[in-house]
Amino acid sequence: MGSREEQWFDVIVVGGGIMGSCTAYETSKRGYSTLLLEQFDLLHTRGSSHGESRTLRITYPEHYYPSMVLESSRLWDQAQAEIGYRVLYPTTQLDIGPYDDLSLQAVLSSCLSNSVGYRVLDPLQLEQEFSGRLVIPEGWIGVVSEGAAVIKPTKAVAMFQALALRHGALLRDNMQVTTMTKDGHDGGISVSTATGEKFRGKKCVVTAGPWMKKLVEAVTPGHQIPIQPLETTICYWRIKQEHENDYTIKGGFPSFAGYGNPYIYGTPSLEYPGLIKIAVHGGRPCDPDRRTWASRSDLMELLSKWVADRFRGRLEDDGPVSTQSCIYSMTPDEDYVIDFLGGEFGKDVVVAGGFSGHGFKMGPAIGRIVADMAFDGDAQGVELEYFKLARFEKNPKGNVKDFSEQVGIKEADST
Ligand SMILES: Cc1cc2nc3c(=O)[nH]c(=O)nc-3n(C[C@H](O)[C@H](O)[C@H](O)COP(=O)(O)OP(=O)(O)OC[C@H]3O[C@@H](n4cnc5c(N)ncnc54)[C@H](O)[C@@H]3O)c2cc1C
Repeated sequence: MGSREEQWFDVIVVGGGIMGSCTAYETSKRGYSTLLLEQFDLLHTRGSSHGESRTLRITYPEHYYPSMVLESSRLWDQAQAEIGYRVLYPTTQLDIGPYDDLSLQAVLSSCLSNSVGYRVLDPLQLEQEFSGRLVIPEGWIGVVSEGAAVIKPTKAVAMFQALALRHGALLRDNMQVTTMTKDGHDGGISVSTATGEKFRGKKCVVTAGPWMKKLVEAVTPGHQIPIQPLETTICYWRIKQEHENDYTIKGGFPSFAGYGNPYIYGTPSLEYPGLIKIAVHGGRPCDPDRRTWASRSDLMELLSKWVADRFRGRLEDDGPVSTQSCIYSMTPDEDYVIDFLGGEFGKDVVVAGGFSGHGFKMGPAIGRIVADMAFDGDAQGVELEYFKLARFEKNPKGNVKDFSEQVGIKEADST
């Protein structure tokens, strides 16, 4: 490979969120000269990977995710050991919902087929287990599992970027990639930015998050990837003063997911003392360059009722005290897109996106997988067939599942 002065790299990674940062870490660690290009400032807040908490849970209704989470957990540990500080805080996971909810039943089957340990609790047992801090009605169950964690996302992205730099990667921000062409001369990929700079790479990995569809359309006109950006709202609720410590990780409170319509999730009180994150897994379709940044007031009544019912008046349930906006990148089946771009690029360009509101925990595994695909032409230890673009040619809705989707999508409105 040529030297950096000639702007030649073994691999160019487009996008500096968690996926691009993990990829740059993985490829630079393997000794490949690596360039990461980010369109905004490093650690900006306009994509999906910023903020203060993400959940890591092994429990999934789809049988092909738990092994990826387990691989990621090992890789998170390795990265933390390498950097020397923590970005991940171990917790217990509690999944709750009606006993006959098909997704929750699928979680149990997937735990069994992946040998993931869990305990099923009825309402009384759950009340005893968590000392009445969270309760469920008759006909519901709680599924308790270990190996979960809360991840600090901005700190985690910064960690992988620091490690990539340490392994010799070059990180350039405020570099929006506008075109990518197959270099007929020597077979690599030519990448141009809005600033007028050009770089050449033997391989390219595109991890553009909510901008994936736009970027792919720009570089391969007519090629539409079904990834829809969705604006979602994170909500923080105030814990009544005498109960503040009860809802912390130290106090033994779990991360949780409430199955049903809507799917509601939360993490223990960590980032803002006295507040707890509880939000709806859903949002409104948006253009990532023209989003509203507004919170979803239409869901607050429903969420407030859920909080009042589940937390028995120990939280102030008349509304969240703080909200933040963030973006999911939805595919029709909520499964990831991890594939070669194909066409004139063949196997030289790998795309990884459509993480559908549940990708953060997988970052390190995705980095490993796309590095294998870019340099070995394939990746083992992952059921890639579920993530290929071709699934949408067979069925526009993608992978067929016998349970309903988790993320609620509401058409754009004025709220
Ligand atoms: C509120 C919220 C809660 C979530 N909770 C969880 C959770 O609990 N657990 C979990 O596992 N996951 C969770 N997720 C999902 C997870 O955060 C995402 O799946 C993950 O962050 C996606 O990362 P990414 O790198 O694909 O995208 P991004 O972080 O958006 O990164 C893409 C990057 O590409 C850059 N880019 C785009 N186009 C270009 C271009 N042309 N040139 C250069 N750069 C470009 C963008 O600026 C951006 O920085 C949550 C997401 C949200 C929003």
